[in-house]
Amino acid sequence: MEVGDLGRRMLAQDLTRGTGGNVSVRGDNRVAMSPSGVPYEDVTPDSVPLVDLDGEVASGDLKPSSETPMHTMIYRERDDVGAVIHTHSPYASTFASLNEPVPASHYLIAYIGREIPVAGYEPPGTEALGRLAADTMGDDHDAVLLKNHGVIAVGPTGEDALECAMMVEYCARIHYQASAIGSPEILPDEAVDDLRTMFREDYGQQ
Ligand code: 13P
Ligand code: ZN
Repeated sequence: MEVGDLGRRMLAQDLTRGTGGNVSVRGDNRVAMSPSGVPYEDVTPDSVPLVDLDGEVASGDLKPSSETPMHTMIYRERDDVGAVIHTHSPYASTFASLNEPVPASHYLIAYIGREIPVAGYEPPGTEALGRLAADTMGDDHDAVLLKNHGVIAVGPTGEDALECAMMVEYCARIHYQASAIGSPEILPDEAVDDLRTMFREDYGQQ
């Protein structure tokens, strides 16, 4: 899926506001990166900057996203990742501001990991934020919360990364709602591990 379409769908799903957030898709040794501060409605295939895996601009007139270091850091560390989406989705950002991971109070957490962990605070757009996000994500999570900021979600394709970002927001919302009126029951790690295997190996059309 094209970068502009992904950004517009992220916006349509209320996962961000205005020009917040950013998206990228990996090709052969190049990453198509959303341009910094450009409304998603205005992003056309021709206007999307391409960067290399070190974040250096390879083509395009527009400056790539300020979060390019975070995106390229994740691509360098995770061969399975073909797309990265950074959102400011509201329920997930609420837990990010509380510095609280979202636990397995809903089975769909298994799309992401045993929980959605929080990477500590570093200023937006810095290498340090990228380092912290990639380290917190490791190989066992497909999304992390960025403290006082938002979410970074990944997947093999743009469609998968968007789905993951939507699952993050859904799980955060359910956990918020359940916590507001009671004490959510948390699924044990083994149950979530089984669900992760099921999603990977059996679920859907494969
Ligand atoms: P960009 O417009 O540079 O992608 O920045 C948006 C953002 O969310 C920074 O964290
Ligand atoms: Zn941001």
